[in-house]
Parts: sequence; structure tokens; C-alpha cells
Amino acid sequence: MKVGILGGGQLGHMLADAAHAISLETLVLDPKPDAVAGQVTRHLVADWVDESALAELSQCDVVTYEFENVPAEAVERLQHDTAVHPSPDALVISGDRIIEKNFFHDLGIETAPFAQVDTREDLDRAITEIGLPAVVKTRRFGYDGRGQAVLRSSADVDAAWIELGGQALILEGFVPFDREVSLIAVRGREGEIRSWPATENVHEGGILHISRAPAPDVSDDLRTQAESGLEAIMSRLDYVGVLVVEFFQIDGRLVANEMACRVHNSGHWTIEGAPTSQFENHMRAVAGLPLGVTDTEGFAAMVNLVSDVPSMTALKGRDGISLHVYGKSAAPGRKLGHVTVVAPSREVLETRIAEILGVVGDRSAR
Ligand code: AMP
Repeated sequence: MKVGILGGGQLGHMLADAAHAISLETLVLDPKPDAVAGQVTRHLVADWVDESALAELSQCDVVTYEFENVPAEAVERLQHDTAVHPSPDALVISGDRIIEKNFFHDLGIETAPFAQVDTREDLDRAITEIGLPAVVKTRRFGYDGRGQAVLRSSADVDAAWIELGGQALILEGFVPFDREVSLIAVRGREGEIRSWPATENVHEGGILHISRAPAPDVSDDLRTQAESGLEAIMSRLDYVGVLVVEFFQIDGRLVANEMACRVHNSGHWTIEGAPTSQFENHMRAVAGLPLGVTDTEGFAAMVNLVSDVPSMTALKGRDGISLHVYGKSAAPGRKLGHVTVVAPSREVLETRIAEILGVVGDRSAR
């Protein structure tokens, strides 16, 4: 069976590796000649809407994606000839922060207060309605903290408008969260849903820095809130594949920030830390195979390597530590690799995280 993947970054690379381990073939489409998935699978270097590339991709038994901003017309073209999972509706929803938040509300999932902003007058009105502090973000194409600005006081508004004005925007109330938590789940073609332990995420400058799983101190109630949110989303969309929702936790409540209809950075720990990784289960789901076990024993964490890859000789061969370097060229703010660590107890996990940060640098301390 052959699975086509739209997008050939590190997520495509890890999806292809997982697919090959369960005897699935893969084919990637990515316009970038140096897309790193090309290191491990056949890579069509062509525009997203290139007719001959799409014709070749549509020969695959199923097509999925690791990149969310694939043009809708490419997905529509593929759907004529083959199955596309997850549902392209999920792409439309997760690709626009206003549509996404309205969708969450329809399903009874709490979000920060928000308002649509197209003009400077809209922004002033939204600030009066929602209050400050608040966060102004582009509705589309924002990632890793790009395309957003925090408005702490009215003195910040002009600069934010100069930076972001002229695009379709959203104003969100600032959530004074206790921590950030994500839940990753997978739904198979027959509707079976499995989820991994909730993950606690620490961001720096809008970019994920460290994930810990299972997140400490997750009550049954918190877990149920997260799981029922994802179940509602997946059932509504007849979703097939891996879905992640990033939440803010505040006073024992979960407030949804955003969803990603693909494998996610906060789930990279599952390669070494769970019986079945998010990548393998995504491939199993879209290929119509039985889902693998997600119940996880032990503790795991992941530290992202951002902007540069330091020398990690001191970490090589260390107990429980695995290095993943993606082979991408360095650039400020770019995710270039990650280090995973597994441990039998939370105490040992924290000691090992400290060792890793001692070698790769602690971005939160900069
Ligand atoms: P996002 O691109 O929406 O994932 O935002 C990146 C990061 O900015 C989040 O992980 C949070 O740390 C922070 N952030 C985004 N939106 C808000 C908000 N409404 N309130 C507080 N912090 C936020």
C-alpha cells in the first residue's frame, strides 16, 4: 500500500520512517528541492498544484498531509481520484483562527474571548470589548509565534497595527494560564479513538521549547475535558488520523488555543516514549490498519533544537537519550532537531532534562 504525503519537512520525514517500519510505501510532494523527507522517500519537487505531480500522487492508495497550508484546489484535485485523510474540512477549519474558534464554540469547547479584526476601527472596538492585555494574530499562516503581537497596554496598539495591519486578523483575550497542555489523539477509519497521555508544553518566544509526558498533576476531570473535546472534534469531522489540540490550563479548566490536523511537535516524544508513536498511528489510521497501543508507562520529555544545532557529543549514548537532527539549514527560529529522553521516574526525567539543557542550552534562560 502506498501513502502520499503533502509536505516534506521533518514531520514528513518522521511519517515516512514510521510508514516504512510497517511496510507501507510513501511518496512526498513538496516544492522545496531540499525538503528533508527527500532523504528517506521519493520526493516530487513541484508546485502544490502541478498537474503531473498531483496525477502521480493520486495513484497512491491514500493521501495525507504534514503541512497545513496546502492550497484547497490541490486537495480537491486529489480527492477526485483517491482517498484524502484527515478530512480536508479540518484543514479549512484549522487554517483560519476565526473559523476554528467558532467551530470550538459550536462543540461547547471553551476558548479565549475573540473578535474579528479587519480595520483599525475593528481593532479599537475589539479592545474595548475584550480588554487588555490581549493578543492580536493573523487569522491565517501564523506559526511558532509569527504573525502575532501581545498588547499589554494601549501604548502597544499602534506598533502592532503597523506590523500586522492590512491582513485578516483576530484579537484574543490574553489567557493568564497556569500552563500549556496538549492532547494528541488518533481516530481510525472505523471511528476508534485512542489518545496518548496529555503533554505539558513550555514555549519560548512562541516556539515550543520543552514537552513533558505525561503532564504532571493531570486530574481525571482535566483528562476528561481534554478527551471529550478531541472526541467531539473528531466525530464531527469523521476524522481519520492524528489530531492535536493545544490548551491553556487555568484554574483546573482547559481553554482551547488551536488544533492541528496532523502530527505535532508536542508528540515527538512518542517515538521513544510510547508503545506506538504518533507517526506510526497516523499512518496506520490513514491506511485503514488497526491502531497501535497508546497507553504509556514511564516518563518522557522532548527538548527542541531551535536556530542552531550545538555539539551534542556529551549526550551521545547516554541512558534514555535520543538525538534527532533533521538535516535542515540553520536559520533563526527554525526547528532543526529535537532531543528525546525517557526515564523510569519523574525525578530521573528531570535530572536528564537538566543534563540535556546543560549541553544544548536552555532557551528560557537566555
Ligand atoms: P499560537 O501561535 O496561537 O500557538 O501561540 C503561540 C504561543 O503564544 C502560545 O503557545 C502561548 O504561549 C502564547 N499565546 C498565544 N495566544 C495566547 C493567548 N490568547 N493568551 C496567552 N498566551 C497566548
